[in-house]
Amino acid sequence: MGMRANSQQCSVRNGQRRDALCVRSIEVKRDRMVCLVQVCDRWHYTTSKLAALACKEYPHMPFHTCVNSHGSTFGDVIKHTSIPHLLEHLVIDLLVQRNVDRSNRSFVFAGTTEWIDEGHGTAQVQIKIQDDIKALQALKDAVAIINNWCRQLSND
Ligand SMILES: [Zn+2]
Repeated sequence: MGMRANSQQCSVRNGQRRDALCVRSIEVKRDRMVCLVQVCDRWHYTTSKLAALACKEYPHMPFHTCVNSHGSTFGDVIKHTSIPHLLEHLVIDLLVQRNVDRSNRSFVFAGTTEWIDEGHGTAQVQIKIQDDIKALQALKDAVAIINNWCRQLSND
């Protein structure tokens, strides 16, 4: 049995700008969390500039193992991949960083991302988790970090 938590809706800032990314719902299952996320029209995909910001702050991220059409690491697609896919890898990066003293060292964080409706910017991100509270915190932090990057680039 999972538990479902509804998260906040996309917010409108200063009466005009929406966040690039928001979480519509989160379902916490025994071994993973299933997140329905929504991206705004402008930010369905990463750009070279966004990838550069992400790799500068999270230098391990391009070396994550990732099955994709261009290679075997996230770095092979990071300059042009979906924002929800970036979210998946950032959550995993935060969980790995924060879990250095974990007892179960053999645990492998992993995830999947797929569009539910690409035209409307909705996608499902699933991430294997050990600790639901830590996972929810990492998700919340990763969303805020990505929105901050997109806001910086939108202001350029
Ligand atoms: Zn990936």
